[in-house]
Amino acid sequence: MSNVFDTALSTLKEAGRIGKIDERVMKILTTPKRIQQVSIPLKMDDGTIEVFQAFRVHYTDALGPCKDGTRFVPDLNLDEVKALAFFMTIKHAVGGIPAGGAKGGVKADPRKLTQNEYEKLCRAFIRALQPKGEWVDIPGADIGTGEQAMAWMLDEYEQISGYHQPAAINDKPPILGGSQGGWDATGTGLFTCLSQAAKEIDLPVQRARVAIQGFGQVGSIAAKLLYQAGAKIVAVSDIDGAVQNEEGINIPALIDHVEKTGTVKDAVDTIDMDKDRIFAVDCEILIPAAVQSVINAGNVMDINAKLIVEGANGPITPDAEKKLLAKKVKIVPDIIANCGSAIVCSFERTQGLTDDYWDLETVNSKMKARILKAYNEAVATAEEYEIDSIRSGAWINALRKIAQAMKFRGWI
Ligand code: NAD
Repeated sequence: MSNVFDTALSTLKEAGRIGKIDERVMKILTTPKRIQQVSIPLKMDDGTIEVFQAFRVHYTDALGPCKDGTRFVPDLNLDEVKALAFFMTIKHAVGGIPAGGAKGGVKADPRKLTQNEYEKLCRAFIRALQPKGEWVDIPGADIGTGEQAMAWMLDEYEQISGYHQPAAINDKPPILGGSQGGWDATGTGLFTCLSQAAKEIDLPVQRARVAIQGFGQVGSIAAKLLYQAGAKIVAVSDIDGAVQNEEGINIPALIDHVEKTGTVKDAVDTIDMDKDRIFAVDCEILIPAAVQSVINAGNVMDINAKLIVEGANGPITPDAEKKLLAKKVKIVPDIIANCGSAIVCSFERTQGLTDDYWDLETVNSKMKARILKAYNEAVATAEEYEIDSIRSGAWINALRKIAQAMKFRGWI
């Protein structure tokens, strides 16, 4: 496969084949609906000019307005943005979110910008792309952006439109109309699916041993909830190293340690281990919550876990997945397991549109119900097609929903 977008299309093709999706729908889904690409000249603090490349891709709006993240990374390219917009289309459909998929971003390294330059770039991004608001295109945060960046983008948007429009930008701080529970949403959603999947294989979470790769926003929240449920987190890794404790790591202490030192390494009551051996640890549950393609031909045979719940996007290569399914390992795929934040972003827009802001308990209970529904639907579809892959079940469901919307719209 030549690039990440080709890989996305091959997944589409396979799910379409198994699910017998209408060829006309498949044809429409092979290209994005709209691509914006702009150059943003920015006067830097030292008076020089830098020109940044920026993109926004709307994949399809069959199910609703295009929605999702804004990535500021130095190696961003259009194929990556197209693939991410496509995956968000599928994720929204899987999660029962009435939205199409979008993604955007700037080819820039925020760590190399001053605060002033970063703010100017966020505002310039909105001016250059002119998103058309909550009924067309709703940018949110992604790698290299966060609450502050989205607050600047919202402010710029509202300065231009002349209206307060909190639903036009997602992932802003609650004081500007952001949702409660946004930061924890993906970890909480992951834990919800994990608990359900564990129940189905008679694996009590409160006695399970768990290994987690990645201890950031997703991995640390999932670890905290598992710890609170009584599970033993026996190993955790990050980009710098890994630690283990067969009796279970004290997760609140590890979170404090990471806040102070920036890494899991040398945490109290743990022993350091080779981070590349994280998936070979003796445990029942694995949570890859770092980067893509980490479970692959090189390590798949070392895995002895019964359940893998994907926090990261695409952490298991297709060949490795086949081997795991043959060994009867249950896999909760990324498009379900990590869609908690996409669901809460949809709630954020709903709250902004109605001017009725929900408490954390309401957000969490609605999100858990939505993610469990997505999980149960995918399992049911996999059973209907007599396949082991919950991922394929989820993709088929998404494609069926998109196909139904396209048919009613008269596109096919
Ligand atoms: P983060 O930046 O907060 O944390 C990432 C963690 O992974 C860090 O602990 C980092 O040290 C570790 N890591 C990075 N590269 C690694 C490597 N090669 N080996 C081991 N550890 C490594 O990121 P996050 O928000 O927790 O996201 C984690 C993954 O989940 C990403 O793939 C992201 O795209 C995906 N995801 C996140 C969300 C969300 O809401 N944050 C939603 C959907 C998907």
